[in-house]
Amino acid sequence: MDYNKIINSAYSTIKLIENHGNIATYIPELAKVDPLKFGVFLQPINKNGCGVGHFNERFSIQSISKILLLTLVYKDVKSDLWKRMSFEPSGDAFNSLVQLEVEKGIPRNPLINAGAIVLCDILLDLYSNPKKVFLDFVRKLAANNSIDYNTAIYKSEKETGFTNYAIAYMIKSNKNLKNKVDDVLDLYFYACAIEMTCEELSNTCLLFANQGVIVGSDERILSKSRNKRVNAIMQTCGFYDEAGQFAFKVGLPGKSGVGGGIIAINPNKYSVAVWSPKLNIKGNSVKGMKFLELLTNETGSVF
Ligand code: GLN
Repeated sequence: MDYNKIINSAYSTIKLIENHGNIATYIPELAKVDPLKFGVFLQPINKNGCGVGHFNERFSIQSISKILLLTLVYKDVKSDLWKRMSFEPSGDAFNSLVQLEVEKGIPRNPLINAGAIVLCDILLDLYSNPKKVFLDFVRKLAANNSIDYNTAIYKSEKETGFTNYAIAYMIKSNKNLKNKVDDVLDLYFYACAIEMTCEELSNTCLLFANQGVIVGSDERILSKSRNKRVNAIMQTCGFYDEAGQFAFKVGLPGKSGVGGGIIAINPNKYSVAVWSPKLNIKGNSVKGMKFLELLTNETGSVF
């Protein structure tokens, strides 16, 4: 399969379509991003990767960090995790409070804000310096010690992320948060503010395509079965109330972020990262989704 040719052709097609959607402005610092950025990087597990467009510029990975938080928790915490949250699709917005109230502070899944906030609470219990542990973990997966977080974006969300404070207090009032709301959200905003290029992101997430083993170092992070489950959760919950659309059109496990990034995993084959900041009303990158749809149309079978 000539991935280089396929991604170049899909990129040229999608580049020409009208750039619908809007960049995320509810985090003021994110509103400064150039809406015309568009980059792609595809990293196969057994050969060199290939990129097109702005694949070498860092962007805010935002909710894509939720799969990394989940992995850091899930590699050590076993069935107890599923007492604190479920693994069903929410069919609701990423920052919705509705289900959380009805379901008594048990988030539907780890990939909505509520679920990732509980993951952060678990990490605060596991580690005395969870921010450092998280960053070191991400750097290890990426095999890149220059990966870092963006201070301005972290501060911007810390000052304005009122819905996330509401979510955390709702969980806390239902006794599903052990630590202080401010401490839990501090880690959550930090994780969301990690920046990567498309190339770095596809390399960081390549272990999900490689049965839970880091390509290169051969270090196993997740057992085969837990890696399968992380992919399953991405497939069913990675795009909130648009998870069905993404499965229907793209057919791969994936995760989006309001920075305009998407990572998608083709198990045993490749991981692919796309970045285009304009989002649809569900908070997912318009061109990113269209590019991935064209990619898997072109490559045929997804699994
Ligand atoms: N930091 C963002 C928030 O909590 C992440 C949301 C997203 O990327 N979907 O609102």
